[in-house]
Amino acid sequence: MFIDLPPLPYEKNSLEPIISTQTIQYHYGKHHKGYVEKLKKLIDGTKWEKEKLETIIKRTDNQTIYNNAAQVFNHTFYWNSMSPKRQQPEGALKMLLEKYFGSIDEFKKKFIEAGTTLFGSGWVWLVQDKDGALKIKQTRNAHCPLKDNEIPLLTCDVWEHAYYLDYKNERKKYLEKWWDLINWDFAAKNMKT
Ligand code: FE
Repeated sequence: MFIDLPPLPYEKNSLEPIISTQTIQYHYGKHHKGYVEKLKKLIDGTKWEKEKLETIIKRTDNQTIYNNAAQVFNHTFYWNSMSPKRQQPEGALKMLLEKYFGSIDEFKKKFIEAGTTLFGSGWVWLVQDKDGALKIKQTRNAHCPLKDNEIPLLTCDVWEHAYYLDYKNERKKYLEKWWDLINWDFAAKNMKT
């Protein structure tokens, strides 16, 4: 079995005060874990049982398997998109962000706007398309850019469960604070050059 709940890349309290320990306890310990358990049950005894998560996401046409597989991937990607260590974009990633968005500030503005304006539950992403261009992408519910043959670089979860305990209904405030947690090293490593 390839599918499991990966360990968090930091302690549950290390994103305080931007994301509380309590939020992580629920979000990682209940929501993310729940998707892992549901997916394992769904694929048990099927042709997907020994496949990688990425393969399941790209190839399955079963909506329930897809939703759970994508949510497992998306959450792991979200935890890795954050770091307790404050960082700035550097090198090739910084250059490409400036090329496609004008400036880091402009990228920040557009990313937060995309997260704020996404109606309902979903994700906001920085992705690289097949031509190497950087794009901001909103996905609804569980949808994952891997299904669209795009390379995810960074994501923020904008389902209410990600921020409600800390920010109530103020999604924009969450996104603005979340900005300071971005793991730019992770985004740079995901980039194909
Ligand atoms: Fe979530």
